[in-house]
Amino acid sequence: MTQRRRQTRNSIYHYLYETREFCSKQSLARDLRLSLPTVYQHLTELMEEGLVHYSGEQQSTGGRKAMGLEIVADARYAIGVSVTETRLRFVAADLRLGEMAYRKVHHPSVAEMENFGDFLTRELERFIDDNALDRDRLLGVGIALPAVIAPDESRRITLAPTLHLRDVELQRLMGTIPYPLYIENDATSGGYAEWFTHWQGRDIAYLLLETGVGGAILVNGGQYRGVNHRSGEFGHMCVEPGGLPCKCGKRGCLEAYCSPSRVSDDLGISLKEFFDGLERHVPEYETLWYDLLRHLAIGVNNIRMALDCDVVLGGFLTEFLPPYMPLLKEYVAAGNTFEPSADYLHLSNLRRHTVPLGVALHFIKEFLETI
Ligand SMILES: [Zn+2]
Repeated sequence: MTQRRRQTRNSIYHYLYETREFCSKQSLARDLRLSLPTVYQHLTELMEEGLVHYSGEQQSTGGRKAMGLEIVADARYAIGVSVTETRLRFVAADLRLGEMAYRKVHHPSVAEMENFGDFLTRELERFIDDNALDRDRLLGVGIALPAVIAPDESRRITLAPTLHLRDVELQRLMGTIPYPLYIENDATSGGYAEWFTHWQGRDIAYLLLETGVGGAILVNGGQYRGVNHRSGEFGHMCVEPGGLPCKCGKRGCLEAYCSPSRVSDDLGISLKEFFDGLERHVPEYETLWYDLLRHLAIGVNNIRMALDCDVVLGGFLTEFLPPYMPLLKEYVAAGNTFEPSADYLHLSNLRRHTVPLGVALHFIKEFLETI
């Protein structure tokens, strides 16, 4: 295929991918300034490959009925896996990042499992089989880890405090997965999914509030990674010198103050139980929660000061945050030298399975670029 032909094919597919409204051959040709025969030829090919189909909708255009066109979202899919200390989360995502299947698997602590890689490989195959997913359509498997992954070809994890791992080979965790494989930091994956689905064209700092607190910086249409692939490690910014001990070995980190573990696992209760108690004004819960919010505000402020962009909060703690956003914004605004309000602070739009979806997105994006 010539370069130009490929570009035309790509622009037709992308047009259909991005258009949510009715789209016909005629409107395609008009908006992309292509001749009808050219559009027809490419569409025939894309349809034969099962990538585009008629939507079934019809619209009258000057007396003639026109058929609607759309991409086939599940023509290909990718699997995203999120690894945490004791849980695996599998998601199969279609080309529009729609969820086709999901499963959560509990397991012993990763650091204590001799053959975690084999376990992961086995569970992955089981996930594919149980959901009757077609291996021929699988673009690849993305794995998100709460870890700093070395930027070179050494295929090592530099540090993963919440997994209790330091300087280990990725191979030990990955086993022998027989599909194209991509490995990424969990917060980077979450931020990428949020940015791709809701913030394209804008710069954001994403702060992931999960057991491990992390983040990602999405600027100029992509991730800012940093020299050591450690950009956006907001969880280990110091927000209280000499403060609470952090899993990384230091004291006073944002993670030590704002990890959801602090108000659930550490108290031996679920997050829901904590927030129910908070509504009933249990004094210890209130003290703890306002302390968490104050330190979160310091973290948000520091991010805003350094990057001067929208700050988006993600992760499973955010499910419980909406009633407390006005107060959090008040704390944030009070600490800011330049701005009287914190309108730049948002809760993520994607609420479920953001991390595994984000790491699956790697393969979807690659497919969209090369189609
Ligand atoms: Zn730390």
